[in-house]
Formats: sequence, C-alpha cells, structure tokens
Amino acid sequence: MGNKHPVVIIGGGPVGLTMSIALSVRGIFNVVLERQSRVYELPRAIVMDAEIRRAFVELGFGSELANVLTPMSRADFVDSDGNEVMGIDVFHIHQFGLPAVSCHYQPELDELLLSIAKRCGADIRFGCEVIGIDATEQQVSVTTVDGENVCADFVVACDGASSSIRKKIGIQLEDLAFEQDWLVVDLEILHPEASQLPNVTRQVCDRDRPVTLVRGHKNFYRFEFQLQPGEIPSEMNTERTIWSLLEKWVTPKDVRLIRHAAYRFHGVVATSMQQGRIFLAGDSAHQMPPFMGQGLNTGMRDAFNLSWKMALVVKGRAKRKILETYGQERIGHAKSVVMHSIDTGRLIDQIAGRVSHGIEESAGYGGARPQPKLGESRLQFGQQDNGTMFTRIHELEGAEMKDGSFQLVSSTKSMDHFSLFGTPLQSHVLDGIEGMYLVRPDGYVAGVFENNRELAKYLDQIASEFA
Ligand SMILES: Cc1cc2nc3c(=O)[nH]c(=O)nc-3n(C[C@H](O)[C@H](O)[C@H](O)COP(=O)(O)OP(=O)(O)OC[C@H]3O[C@@H](n4cnc5c(N)ncnc54)[C@H](O)[C@@H]3O)c2cc1C
Repeated sequence: MGNKHPVVIIGGGPVGLTMSIALSVRGIFNVVLERQSRVYELPRAIVMDAEIRRAFVELGFGSELANVLTPMSRADFVDSDGNEVMGIDVFHIHQFGLPAVSCHYQPELDELLLSIAKRCGADIRFGCEVIGIDATEQQVSVTTVDGENVCADFVVACDGASSSIRKKIGIQLEDLAFEQDWLVVDLEILHPEASQLPNVTRQVCDRDRPVTLVRGHKNFYRFEFQLQPGEIPSEMNTERTIWSLLEKWVTPKDVRLIRHAAYRFHGVVATSMQQGRIFLAGDSAHQMPPFMGQGLNTGMRDAFNLSWKMALVVKGRAKRKILETYGQERIGHAKSVVMHSIDTGRLIDQIAGRVSHGIEESAGYGGARPQPKLGESRLQFGQQDNGTMFTRIHELEGAEMKDGSFQLVSSTKSMDHFSLFGTPLQSHVLDGIEGMYLVRPDGYVAGVFENNRELAKYLDQIASEFA
C-alpha cells in the first residue's frame, strides 16, 4: 500500500480535470485516475456559461480559456416555417464581465484542461481504471485494474453518467420524468464563407420532428433530431438516414460529418452527493437533456463548490463538517437546472403543437426564468442574493479567492477587521452596494449584512460550527 494522498479523483473527464485544477491552485495535491488512454475525442458539451468562465478567470486561466471560446451570437425558437416564436441576442449580454454564453469544441477544451491540470502539479494517470473502492472512518482506498491500491483522505467520483462508484456506494438517482430519444449529429462546415447555416442556437418547433441547430466554436455545427414513436434509435443512426434528415439544410459538399449518435435525453439527480469521505461530482450526480447546454456547466459548478471547502479541510483550517454543505447546496441547484432543461424540452413540443404541457414561455430562450439558487446550508445567511454568484465579482480588484479568502464588499470602507478560517476578509468598496456583501471563495454570496454587528455574529457562528 502506497502513501495516502489528500484527494483522489476518479475520472479525468472535464469535471474531474476541473476539480483537479481547482484543488491544485489552492495547494492541494491530487491524483486523477482515468480509464481511457487519452482525452475523449468527440464533442458532447458545446457551451460554457459566464459563471463557469468567470470561475476559471478567478483561478488564473482566463486568457488560455479565451483561446478556445467564441461568444454565442443568438438563441431562438422558430416554427417549422422558420418564423421566430421567441429569441434573444445573446451576443449583447454580459454577466460577471464576460459574454453570457460562449461556445467551445469539447475535445479542444478537454485537452486544455488536461494541460493546465498537469502543469498545476496533479498526478494524472490515464489508462488507469478504478475497479474497487473501500472506505473507513480514516481514509478511502481505491483499487485499480492493475491491482494497485491508492489511498486518500477524500475521493471525488467524477466518473460520468454510468458511474460505477455511485452504484458501489449505493447512492440512488431521482428520476425527474423525462425521456426522449434524439439523434445528435456533429459537422464541420467546409466553406464557411459560403455557408447558409444560421449563426444561432435554434430550436425548430416542428410538429413532425423538432430539430435543434447549434452554431459551435470555429466551423463546428450541431444538429439534433428528435426521434418519433416507432423509430428505433439504432436503425435511425445510419449515415444514410442522417444525410436525408440534413438535406433541408446541407449536403456532403457543404460539411464534413464528424460523428452521429443516438442519445436518450433524460433528467436525473442523485439523492445524495456524499457518503463519508466519498463525493460525487458531474454526470455521476446529475444528467439532463441538453436544451439549455447546462450539463457540463452544472458539473463544473460542483467542482468549484467542493474544491474550496475541501482545500480548507485538508489544510486543517475547517472541520470536515463543512463538506456536508456541498450536497446540501448543490442538489437543489442542480435539480432546478435539470427541471429547467426538461421544461425547455417540453416547451419545444408544446410550441410545435404536438402536446401541451402547460409550460410557461419563461422556460425558453430569452424567457428570463430566474437563476436558480444554491440549496440552503448553514453557510448562507438571510434571503437577499445569498446562494447566487456575486454579479459584480469582476469589479473586485486584487481579490485573492484562490487562498480561501472571503471578500467583504460595501459602498463605504469597513472599519472593522474580520477573519474567517484563519484568513482576514478582503475589503472592497463599490458604488451602489446596499449593505455588506460577504462573497465566498467560489464567488457566491454568503449573505448580505446590515452592519458590523450582524456580520460579526454570523462569522462567530460559522467559526464555531465549521472552523
Ligand atoms: C448530446 C449532448 C449534448 C450536450 N451538450 C451540452 C452543452 O452544450 N453544455 C453542457 O454544459 N453540457 C452538455 N452536455 C453534457 C456534457 O457533455 C456532460 O455533462 C459532461 O461531459 C460530463 O462531464 P463529466 O466529467 O462529469 O463526465 P464524462 O465526460 O463522462 O467523464 C467521465 C470520465 O470518467 C472516466 N471513468 C469512468 N469510470 C471510470 C473508472 N471506473 N475508472 C477511471 N475512470 C473512469 C471516463 O472514462 C470519463 O473520461 C451534453 C451531453 C450530450 C450527450
């Protein structure tokens, strides 16, 4: 049996690599065990939202990431004749100082994450499948297919939708009742200057067959075709059928077929994201239909929530109890995102006149359904803005969120000096802020306080419970 590591991450997909990076920059050594011999070479996720991009910027990787991202231009719903039903020019919207939505080509993003994770000092082992896991009160021991035992204080299972770790530790998935079969087709546009394909993310609400179009990063383009009752996914997933479905838009002269696959879109969320020293993150904990482009974003949000807490525990600055807030906060948030994605899917069918689900248009692009909040935890205070990312995070000059510092933001200089988890709060003065915003190392608002006394009481309570 070898040394005990602080953290072992099972799965070197995008969520596992994000977890690795977010721990390494906080000084926590980690080992990533990935069964494949290299990064998955086909695209799945297409978009990154501003919150996730901002989190990477705060960790110091903004400019590298900018090289693999293109801001999304527009998202809309149209009827079968192409008439707009609803839509939004995403290009003009900025959040957290960044484009609201950016497109990427996932294999390129995953390669970048891998190179950053390696550079940050993690021990990344590809071609290393985990076949067993055994936890005691003191540690977790993971067995690889080569018979090696790797021990850790904590294990994060980022092993994807069919997670064997989730099954081994007996965590159930709650089924949120959505099932549709779709064909997903990825293309490369051969002559971009002559292409007639619309530069949008578009849901074509066609009564006979709803179709999704997504203009991706560079010259990549995706089509998704909803399969109809009686159509057998494996029989439909042939090049011949794909080209006949595409012929309304493109021919083999216009595009190169990168891949085609039949997927069952569904919505599930784990009933728990932790068992003792073992945690679930990413698709192992939640899966959703892709209509909102939130699957990977939701997994990365898990990594950013868990990493700062785990770093504080490994450094001995917080008690293990703080890790319980991970599942408390993430499950409710992930469930809202899955439900939104399901409602978007149902709205497509409803607008197409196929079936009425009673879904409000707020579920569609530009429909302005409110952002979900983190589930309640003892880390959060009050009801105002807590549990959402601080919208002016990009204005916090010199903020050092990597070392686990909390930021205190108000419109006047705070005279008192506070600290939490052994680090002084960093103070910022911003115009137009009402009250005192306490911002966590993951950029989320912990609470909004009226005065120093209220803040001091909260900090005492957090220190006695978690520090
Ligand atoms: C058609 C489609 C479109 C999508 N579009 C979007 C989108 O636009 N935006 C978005 O955010 N998301 C989207 N998603 C979802 C997104 O692709 C996933 O949420 C994301 O890839 C999950 O990342 P992950 O790291 O959790 O899991 P995965 O990418 O599945 O990675 C898991 C890794 O764990 C490894 N592994 C598994 N078991 C073991 C083991 N026992 N030992 C070692 N390694 C193991 C696997 O080899 C794999 O590399 C889409 C998904 C689909 C199917």
